[in-house]
Amino acid sequence: MLKKFVLVTTLLVSPLAAVAEGEVNVYSSRQEQLIKPILDKFTAASGIKVNLVTGKDDALIERLKLEGENSPADLLMTADAGRLSRAKDLGLSQAVESEALKTAIPENLRDPENQWFGLTYRARPIFYVKEKIKPEDLSTYADLADPKWKGKICVRSSDNIYNQSMLASMIASQGTEAATKWAEGLVKNFARPPEGGDRDQLKAAAAGMCDLAISNTYYYGQMLASEAPEDKAAAEKMAIFWPDQGEQGRGTHINVSGATVTKAAKNKENAVKLLEYLVGDEAQAWYAEHNQEYPVKTTVPASSLLKGWGDFKADSINLSELGKHNAEAVKIMDTVGWK
Ligand code: FE
Repeated sequence: MLKKFVLVTTLLVSPLAAVAEGEVNVYSSRQEQLIKPILDKFTAASGIKVNLVTGKDDALIERLKLEGENSPADLLMTADAGRLSRAKDLGLSQAVESEALKTAIPENLRDPENQWFGLTYRARPIFYVKEKIKPEDLSTYADLADPKWKGKICVRSSDNIYNQSMLASMIASQGTEAATKWAEGLVKNFARPPEGGDRDQLKAAAAGMCDLAISNTYYYGQMLASEAPEDKAAAEKMAIFWPDQGEQGRGTHINVSGATVTKAAKNKENAVKLLEYLVGDEAQAWYAEHNQEYPVKTTVPASSLLKGWGDFKADSINLSELGKHNAEAVKIMDTVGWK
């Protein structure tokens, strides 16, 4: 048992144990096959070696916290502005002054104090079962709290940051009271107690358990592009509805995958070079397409699959607001019994 533990620890730590001059050490929650090829291209173009450690989002933040200033990590790549803000609030990040990053990334998709930067974005719209629901029956997130949807909505649990950030965006735009009422109504409309991830909500809806599901767009994209016939078939039963598109509407909730240069970074200069590379045209197109996400850089077109879902108005709120309202969102979810 002890031997096994030592072996695992060694495997986890050894690739970065020695901080080599100029090399960039990346902690990434993105799976290796979805990030390594673009890091290799960066190395080929710049001559800067990149060492990659992958792990779960929250575990990587925990690890950075434990390692403190001795952390070998220069760059943390993770998803959700709420989480990136958390890394900032924990003092794990540092500011980066880069005109290239500011020019490439729209202002609302990066931290106002330049501590984190969005690299791709995803939306969190409503998905409906094509056979059962007409898009005309749908309108806004607020409408999902209407009793007419009783027992018809599938959404994952409140311990996941995606829903926390979605509710935080509502607090930011409509205030605490309206957000609380909304969450209360939504919970009453749940088809079942929350279980599983976003993909599981889409699958449950396709299997007849609910009429509507809330999910991030890339999960739907991954299922549509999947080689597993059952995943593809489930996704094909579903369609996207972009909520809050009216003239007065705030737009569909979006979030980012992004990166932050760590406070402990030993190779800040090269870490910034890597960040700047990731907002270049080639990297933006590749990184977004392979993850079924939207490039943050507006001049880089989305993949044809994503284009096929149509244009939509995205909520233009500065995503740092999601971090600011996270604690309140969690409190509301607790109060209204969103498991
Ligand atoms: Fe995800």
